[in-house]
Amino acid sequence: MVAVDGPSGSGKSTVSRRLAATLAAAYLDTGAMYRAVTWAVLRAGVDLADPEGIAKVATESELGCGTDPAHPYLRVDGVPVDGPIRGPEVTAAVSAVAAVPAVRRLLVARQREIIAGADRIVVEGRDIGGVVAPEAELKVFLTAAPAERARRRSAQDATDPTATAAELARRDGLDMTRAADPLQPAPDAVELDTTGVDIDAVVATIRDLLADRLRERQG
Ligand code: C5P
Repeated sequence: MVAVDGPSGSGKSTVSRRLAATLAAAYLDTGAMYRAVTWAVLRAGVDLADPEGIAKVATESELGCGTDPAHPYLRVDGVPVDGPIRGPEVTAAVSAVAAVPAVRRLLVARQREIIAGADRIVVEGRDIGGVVAPEAELKVFLTAAPAERARRRSAQDATDPTATAAELARRDGLDMTRAADPLQPAPDAVELDTTGVDIDAVVATIRDLLADRLRERQG
């Protein structure tokens, strides 16, 4: 199992999906799970300042997670939410929902179940190497310069780069300073700066690191 953590715009999603495809492994986007719960919270009209209400929605929503890297998907109570979970409403609210400890407990347990059920899997998020799967064979923490992260994110979401930079900085601040499982590299994670580096080169570096790790474990 490979854990890929890092802030948004660090290249995590593209790298993780491509890595999973080349390893013939499953792929789990845990950020999409937090986004799906956020979508359910907004649909239910629950106040973002009401952690109990948020926890209740999270408990009562049935999440469906597709882990094929060629066709990952998220469903809430059978409804496909892949489009709306990338929208500005969910993006603005997700850090508040992800900071609720009961939501994290629920999703971390679900993530561990999915990992345990997979032969091989690449899992991306913020706390995978540190909290969800400390036993991962390889832990990678991707970073990139803030301007490059904002550029990538706005190209992905077709939004204005300046507004995106401000939104990223706001979300990073919330994710890094929250009490429950803040965004930070696991002590044994390999940090890779993807600024100006081609995606395929990052994937190749991770594959080499994984091969080394597996050889070390066997030898
Ligand atoms: O990766 P993505 O930008 O889609 O993640 C959305 C949000 O979900 C993050 O800003 C963070 O608040 C939360 N998240 C988390 N733990 C994870 C993955 C995502 O708290 N493992």
